[in-house]
Amino acid sequence: MSSASHHAPHADTLAARVKAATGISLAQCYQCGKCAAGCPVSEEMDLTPCQVLRLLQYGQDKYDERAMRSAGIWLCLSCETCSTRCPQEVEIPKIMDVVRAEALKRGIAHPKSKDILAFHRAFLDSVEQTGRLYEIGLVANYKLRSGHFLKDVMLAPKMYVRGKLGLLPHMIKGTAAVKRIFKRTLGSKG
Ligand code: SF4
Ligand code: SF4
Repeated sequence: MSSASHHAPHADTLAARVKAATGISLAQCYQCGKCAAGCPVSEEMDLTPCQVLRLLQYGQDKYDERAMRSAGIWLCLSCETCSTRCPQEVEIPKIMDVVRAEALKRGIAHPKSKDILAFHRAFLDSVEQTGRLYEIGLVANYKLRSGHFLKDVMLAPKMYVRGKLGLLPHMIKGTAAVKRIFKRTLGSKG
């Protein structure tokens, strides 16, 4: 890379923000695809976790923006299946947090984010108030907050309720950790 190039590396890339916020270097990822293969929601994602990382690796605004505008980043459940399988121990959920937070900050978050965030708030409230996840209460709360039922956003609750049952006791036990995760995503309103 020539230092004379006018395509000098952009200091304010998402990759740089990820590094600053989490200490994770995107260069660790060598694109083996194991994360996406294990991710319970990757089939529903427009960009798989591995593809999101690839986009960030370019360190170019247009690719950063494509990652931030993705709907798929909002489906990530922070379940850590990907990072557990990753041979490089890349902590993908933390990266997803940064990408989502940046997308919100810049006002370019996918419209789906509104409904997913409403669901996350409902999920958190349910855990906060009862210390347990009551599915019916959760769905009702979600409905109240989002003001409507989006058919495809129900994918997220389904993941919690159906596929992620093994995850729930852990998440509920770690309420403080869950709160931190969602607080980061939701901002101070959480
Ligand atoms: S599993 Fe790890 S190294 Fe492989 S693509 Fe995913 S993040 Fe990159
Ligand atoms: S943490 Fe997110 S990206 Fe990783 S496996 Fe779970 S849902 Fe998929």
